[in-house]
Amino acid sequence: MAHPLRVQVAELLRRPGTEKHLDLDTTPAAVGLHDERFRADEPVRVHLRLESLTDGIVVRGHLDSTWHGVCRRCALPASGPLRSEVDERYQSVVTDPDAFELTGDELDLVPMVREVLVLDAPVVPLCRDDCKGLCPHCGTDLNTGACGCAPAPADDRWAALDGLRAQLDDPVTDDRR
Ligand SMILES: [Zn+2]
Ligand SMILES: [Zn+2]
Repeated sequence: MAHPLRVQVAELLRRPGTEKHLDLDTTPAAVGLHDERFRADEPVRVHLRLESLTDGIVVRGHLDSTWHGVCRRCALPASGPLRSEVDERYQSVVTDPDAFELTGDELDLVPMVREVLVLDAPVVPLCRDDCKGLCPHCGTDLNTGACGCAPAPADDRWAALDGLRAQLDDPVTDDRR
């Protein structure tokens, strides 16, 4: 069976200004997306509107999916809904540097969907926006309550790091010491 994201658009292209709506479910696996931030078989809901222009097709709408990861602050599993906006242009003769190429009468949306999901999934996942993370001294999850440690002198640590970087970046200074 033809992939539902490979759409026959001969009719659309014949009549500029016409629209076609695409509302369907696919999965990361079905679009060839192998990324640890997505589960292969979880639904990716596709809501797109295809509109033909004189020189191609504009695709607008959104994708709804779910990302997974490990919280950068507390190291617990994290996940959340992902809404990805889509606004892409396909051209038979590519004149817009941001446009995808449209070859023949078939509009292949698979690479675009894959690309949008990869670019949209969080690079620094958090279990929640205000996650307090782990105490750097005793490892207590500070979301569950305070530990007995003194607050970390964060500014001093950054200053020490910056000093170290300055030395590494400037060998002349090192030679003089
Ligand atoms: Zn967290
Ligand atoms: Zn502590």
